[in-house]
Amino acid sequence: MKDQFICQGALHPKAIEGLRLFNEKKFFEAHEEFESAWRAEKGEIRNLYQGILQVAVCYLHITRQNYNGAVKVYGRSMKWLKDLPDVCRGVRVGKLREDAEAVANELQKLGAERITEFDSSLFKAAVWNEKMEWVCDRCGSIMREKNCKVTCPNCGNRFDCSDLNIYFD
Ligand SMILES: [Zn+2]
Repeated sequence: MKDQFICQGALHPKAIEGLRLFNEKKFFEAHEEFESAWRAEKGEIRNLYQGILQVAVCYLHITRQNYNGAVKVYGRSMKWLKDLPDVCRGVRVGKLREDAEAVANELQKLGAERITEFDSSLFKAAVWNEKMEWVCDRCGSIMREKNCKVTCPNCGNRFDCSDLNIYFD
């Protein structure tokens, strides 16, 4: 429940910019935005930003044919991302983990000698929902927000968003 709590609320604007750049395969620029988001935030949500940052750096190393760097940074990225829920602040973290794992597997298959043959179509886009999402504290479903009413489609649990302002500052 602690992890779900840190995943409530909105992404930092710098993180949104970072995700856009990541999806344009501008991995160096994405890494810079995530670093800004990471510096601006407090608490465990930094793990999310640090984890995506490391995935971007891993991909950057691959584009620069740095095999050892890519393998090392992939390991670091999973350290940050492994304990996060599949959806965190609207980011599909589960999908990102799977995509990065597929990249790491292909990298291992090619080895350092054949890294130039890496198929960059394996750099899949990150998926996120900029609308604020909350995880239901009763049943764990993703809750939907509309006109400041947050409703659980599964169990009917409801909040008013004004009650939730405490969760993001
Ligand atoms: Zn519910």
